[in-house]
Amino acid sequence: MMLRFSSSEALQRWRRGLPAGTRTALVPTMGALHQGHLSLVQRARQQADLVVMSVFVNPLQFRPGEDFERYPRDLERDATMAAEAGVDGFFCPPVQDMYPAHREILITAGATATRWEGAARPGHFDGVLTVVAKLLHLAYPHFAVFGQKDIQQVTLIRKLIQELNFPVDLIVAPILRDNDGLALSSRNAYLSPQERQAAPAVNQGLQAARRLWLEGEHRASVLQDVVRSHLTRSPLILPEYIAVTESEQLLSVSEALPGTILAVAVKLGATRLIDNVILEEEKVLRCVAD
Ligand code: AMP
Repeated sequence: MMLRFSSSEALQRWRRGLPAGTRTALVPTMGALHQGHLSLVQRARQQADLVVMSVFVNPLQFRPGEDFERYPRDLERDATMAAEAGVDGFFCPPVQDMYPAHREILITAGATATRWEGAARPGHFDGVLTVVAKLLHLAYPHFAVFGQKDIQQVTLIRKLIQELNFPVDLIVAPILRDNDGLALSSRNAYLSPQERQAAPAVNQGLQAARRLWLEGEHRASVLQDVVRSHLTRSPLILPEYIAVTESEQLLSVSEALPGTILAVAVKLGATRLIDNVILEEEKVLRCVAD
């Protein structure tokens, strides 16, 4: 049976009462759950005895004018989906519970947070890191599961864990996609039918660049051109950035070595979508005949 916690104190009390040796995993989300979120729960279950999911639309990571107010919220549906996916603890605090009226403390991210998503959304990652730090203190998990979908977020959370010595193992889960390749996202709900039809071009561009890279084309500019040529096929898609970066500080590179990240942000009408691929050699399973 899934336990539901709507206050930090209740979650913390439950966590402290667990028998020593109980391995726990935390899956932080902003709700409007989809199969991508549930795949993180499955990943968490592989590692832990108990899985805690948080659903919290964190005002600190939205800038004025962004979609904080209209972000899709359906807590009852989320709770049902979480329970069916095998979540043990469902943490859904109100904003007043997470942030005191006269909040003064904010975790400030450095240079890596100023690029790409951070350039488009100044202060966004300070809000993310602050809420993640709080969630890690409250749930005190052995494992924290985040999606590769938000690759800059995961890069910064890795730094948060290392630099502030959180005793937690970070697990990065792969991107779950719709049948046509569009990365699942709560924000896909904003897309008009026409925008939804155009949206798979983002992944198609990334995959075309990935295939070219596997064939030996390592020049970042050429890979970016391939992605751009897919995006510009639809007049509805407005590319924001097509980044080819190393994985530590997300600095641009001119040559895409293995492990290089190819990340894209586009505007489709009023909706911002992000996606990425990590350029890696395909792992070929060899069948050796007896
Ligand atoms: P969000 O609710 O958008 O903050 O996402 C919560 C977590 O789910 C984050 O770690 C995301 O990276 C992850 N996530 C979002 N979309 C996907 C997806 N399509 N596949 C896998 N993980 C995802």
